[in-house]
Amino acid sequence: MTMQRRVFMINVATSTCAMGMASMVRAAGLPLVAENEPTAVNLHYKADATQVKHAKYRPGQACSNCMLYQGKPTDPTAACGIFPGKHVAGPGWCTAYVRRA
Ligand code: SF4
Repeated sequence: MTMQRRVFMINVATSTCAMGMASMVRAAGLPLVAENEPTAVNLHYKADATQVKHAKYRPGQACSNCMLYQGKPTDPTAACGIFPGKHVAGPGWCTAYVRRA
């Protein structure tokens, strides 16, 4: 194995490990948005969309099928661009909802 190939393999392994660690931190380390936080109140965020009483809400809408939900639709929680540094609940909803294409 040439030195260049060895360095390349080390870089790939290091990058892969760093990406895995980042996703683990993202999944485990972020607190959930509280419904009484100012941004959550302003956007009528609820962790359970079935409890939403807002004219804009339509049944079936949920964070897990919103374009801003940064997890897989099956993830119970995920980051959302509206709430930096926090996770929202997959079954949640807020007035910034945009249907995922
Ligand atoms: S923007 Fe979308 S994912 Fe974020 S809280 Fe609102 S409905 Fe949920």
